Amino acid sequence: VLTLMCYLDYPVDVIVNRMKMLVQVAMRLEIKRGINKCTIINDTYNSDPASLDIALNFLNQQNHQEKKSIILSDILQTGQYLGDLYKDVAKKITRVKSGRFIGIGPDIGKYKNLFDQEDLFFETTDDFLSKFPLHVLKNETILLKGARNFQFEKISRRLEQKMHKTVLEIDLNALIHNLNFFRSLLNPGTKIMVMVKALAYGSGMNEIASLLQHQRVDYLGVAFADEGTELRQAGVSLPIIVMSPSEDSLDQIIEYNLEPEIYNIRILHEFNKVLLRNNAVQYPVHLKLDTGMHRLGFDEGQMEMLIRKLSECQSIKVKTIFTHLAAADEKVHDEFTHLQASRFKKMSQRLMNAGFSAQGHILNSSGIERFAQYQYDMVRLGIGLYGVGNNYQGKLQQVSTLKTCITQIKTVPANDTIGYGRNGKASTETKIATIPIGYADGINRKLSNGHGKFLVNGKFAPVIGNICMDMCMLDITHIDTEEGDEVIVFGREKTISDLANELGTIPYEILTSISGRVKRIYYQE
Ligand SMILES: *Cc1c(COP(=O)(O)O)cnc(C)c1O
Repeated sequence: VLTLMCYLDYPVDVIVNRMKMLVQVAMRLEIKRGINKCTIINDTYNSDPASLDIALNFLNQQNHQEKKSIILSDILQTGQYLGDLYKDVAKKITRVKSGRFIGIGPDIGKYKNLFDQEDLFFETTDDFLSKFPLHVLKNETILLKGARNFQFEKISRRLEQKMHKTVLEIDLNALIHNLNFFRSLLNPGTKIMVMVKALAYGSGMNEIASLLQHQRVDYLGVAFADEGTELRQAGVSLPIIVMSPSEDSLDQIIEYNLEPEIYNIRILHEFNKVLLRNNAVQYPVHLKLDTGMHRLGFDEGQMEMLIRKLSECQSIKVKTIFTHLAAADEKVHDEFTHLQASRFKKMSQRLMNAGFSAQGHILNSSGIERFAQYQYDMVRLGIGLYGVGNNYQGKLQQVSTLKTCITQIKTVPANDTIGYGRNGKASTETKIATIPIGYADGINRKLSNGHGKFLVNGKFAPVIGNICMDMCMLDITHIDTEEGDEVIVFGREKTISDLANELGTIPYEILTSISGRVKRIYYQE
């Protein structure tokens, strides 16, 4: 733009003014769930050799599906001699293992002999869509990268799962920002475990875990063996702690190289038996101490017995000793938190004195923010990753946006009622919007009748009437809006914490309640 304006001899002050009016163009890479369990990486905003590098790296990072496909258009306007350009491209794509390559465009087709025999080429996007059977794409991650005029959005529309207008958007840049912020609070050498239980707090366990592995966190934590198994099957190789292992999952834990939390003598015995049966030696486990949470773990009075039993279990290696704080986020309970820490120190000292040289960890997200002195060897980050903070709320970014859009708008005459049970009353003539999100999507029914307010065009619209299973109605009398407009349930302006307050619950419950039918969309700039 600048070059053109100079060329056209615009005066400098006009150029300066007009430049200020330019808006930033979206250049983001979107990840979407596709047909046949495929994952689609949609990167059709730009097409040049440098951005191809970035996209290929990103594709390689997605290790939860082994099979990969690349669909690439001609790369336009590089000024490079085409033979060199496509030789380079052919070399780059060999970096992606177990990949299928599809080239679309007249130029790339001319150089198909530079590519592998198996690779496929088509003249145009329509040519590809009419000749290539899309249903053969199954259980794979597909990178779509095309110059704008190839209209790859036609391909992505066909590959995406049926559109449900309600989505949970997950901003991976914000997530990485938060991770790095928590890291900046740690002493050098303190390790970081990230809790990815409950589908990574509702955000999608495999996607988040792959990202965390790439970001080199030290450990992942899950609640149950099945969650850990799913991560292994998705190609996650980080060490994984299972926090609440059941007796019947102990074989599975060994099979998938997971590390159990040992919380009482019964599970210690059972696990030792399973280890002996599997001829395992020095198998890593994590001892949970109960210092006041009173959920799982060994009490102070059991330490002697625990030490005795452990000495008899040669197959076990105590890798870490840990406890969980009951109220790290509440100042009124700080004295209790210090008491928990001192009990932990005492109990772990006894284990150390008995010859178990293990590492220690006690801090959850709030603990990391508020009790730097108790970092020990590792911390366990959870909700903070999603931008729900404590002392440092201002330094964190909101990661998730739950949004939908208006299906229908209508005007209801005064004295009519709205919805089931006739609970919504139009006291005067009322304009309402029906939106396709209900309690089956995880919108708590307690938000009915004005208790919840969602954002429509930057203004709060209260829920009117009872929330239905798949829909609810908003009072938009004072809002200028039309059908198809976006509605934000929570996001940057209205945070998860705001919604939790309206509901009298905590952000954790909001995040983990969003049901499976709400499509998760990941994006990274
Ligand atoms: C869930 C969990 C955490 C993380 O808690 P946040 O409050 O989300 O940071 C840490 N430790 C254990 C044992 C947990 O179960």
